[in-house]
Amino acid sequence: MVAGKRGLFIFNRDLRVQDNLALLAICKQVDSLDCIYVHNPAQASADNYGCKQLGQHSQQFLLQSLHQLDNELQLFGQHLKVLSGPLISSIDNYLQHHQIDLVVQSAPYGTDEQRLADSLANKLSDLGITYQQVWQHTLFSQTQLPFRLSALPAHFTPFRQKIEPLFPDVANSQALISMPPPVTKASPLAAFSRDTKQHIQDFQGGCQAGIAHLVAYFGTDAPLTYKQTRDQLDSWTSSSKLSPWLAWGCLSVRQVWQQILNYEQQKGANQSTYWLKFELLWREYFHWYLQRHQHKVFGFSGIHGRAPLTTFHADYFAIWCAGNTPYPLVNAIMHQLNQTGYISNRARQIAASCWVNELQGDWRYGAAYFQQQLLDYDVAVNWGNWQYIAGVGADPRGGRRFDLEKQTRLYDPDERYIRRWQGEATCQPLATRDAVGWPMQTCAEAVSAGNQA
Ligand SMILES: Cc1cc2nc3c(=O)[nH]c(=O)nc-3n(C[C@H](O)[C@H](O)[C@H](O)COP(=O)(O)OP(=O)(O)OC[C@H]3O[C@@H](n4cnc5c(N)ncnc54)[C@H](O)[C@@H]3O)c2cc1C
Repeated sequence: MVAGKRGLFIFNRDLRVQDNLALLAICKQVDSLDCIYVHNPAQASADNYGCKQLGQHSQQFLLQSLHQLDNELQLFGQHLKVLSGPLISSIDNYLQHHQIDLVVQSAPYGTDEQRLADSLANKLSDLGITYQQVWQHTLFSQTQLPFRLSALPAHFTPFRQKIEPLFPDVANSQALISMPPPVTKASPLAAFSRDTKQHIQDFQGGCQAGIAHLVAYFGTDAPLTYKQTRDQLDSWTSSSKLSPWLAWGCLSVRQVWQQILNYEQQKGANQSTYWLKFELLWREYFHWYLQRHQHKVFGFSGIHGRAPLTTFHADYFAIWCAGNTPYPLVNAIMHQLNQTGYISNRARQIAASCWVNELQGDWRYGAAYFQQQLLDYDVAVNWGNWQYIAGVGADPRGGRRFDLEKQTRLYDPDERYIRRWQGEATCQPLATRDAVGWPMQTCAEAVSAGNQA
């Protein structure tokens, strides 16, 4: 065992070694280091709104990411330990068997995760162990923002206008050169099997796969036409497909930003390369939006406290989730989501609009279902986008309704997407009474009511 200061690094949604500012910070401060990830199996059982926090697609991506992280750490003479159980009790148990002086992690951006981190800070303070958090999920730090967080612009456009002058201030990504040796010996990643053969389409979890995808995408001309292609429903190169690696922190947003700048230097900047940055600014906005509005981002009435005129019908929710609605385009989208864990931005907007407008559902159920199904689930971006579409968030127009026939004409004129994902409507009449006896519309009535609105 190495003498001197002993550190513990807790990975969460920062599953990479390079440009991991929190990992760099602890490596500079300790003589020996253990690296852990705490996997809570409870996340894989039904939670909010009958949906899981971690669905099967994400579980697989996470598993692959942990193995690649372990491989990457081994290049530095380190290894990853995976603890299984709730965060606080797992760390408590670990600390009973290991003497640790400093614990560091990336500052979590999710509201529940921040609450857990506060409990962890209290626990460590009781034990006399120093605890540090490093904020690193955004392009800018809070002190770089040209406004107080409480004065975050209510809409994206004024936010973007204030942020764009700061573009030159985005920090370069930082390389890790060496790491202190482990506090304890390596043991295999016990909590997970090594069977990572199966992966979804081309989305393979992990920091090495993330870098490989980043290099591959920017090794093509696709970024030069991104603005024209990004709304396509079903093409691998129409958009960057970087979101799963960004969401799990296999890639940092600064690494992606730098890659765009390098690309612009080599191939020339145009509207499309700008638009990639523009979309990363949407991500940035929703991350600060969550910090600003906290629990209101999850509330039915949203950030303005105005409840929408929607409700929850279990039957409608079931047909929407299963892709069994009267709307072929929506069915195709939900089938793709269920089978792959990924759908395009346009598809997300259409499916979300259908749930809140056509099926008049409580938007939070839709958001929770996306949380379960999306491979790239990001708490700030998902709930922020859902609020936007439901009209309880940052949309200056007070919500979006996508005309499904028009969307089909525009984005799937020959219905190839609908056929590929078997979206042909098979809607069954719905129950006419709900569980407590209130009359309910049939599916067909819901459609015509929706069309008249
Ligand atoms: C209802 C709804 C829910 C969503 N849930 C999520 C989610 O959980 N996780 C997630 O990463 N994205 C979410 N998005 C945003 C967007 O659909 C995805 O980021 C994008 O489709 C991912 O594909 P891409 O990486 O090819 O994106 P690209 O089009 O290549 O964009 C590059 C990056 O910019 C960011 N970005 C793109 N569009 C948006 C947007 N509308 N809002 C914020 N950031 C954006 C993402 O980080 C993305 O990887 C949601 C959108 C909607 C309408």
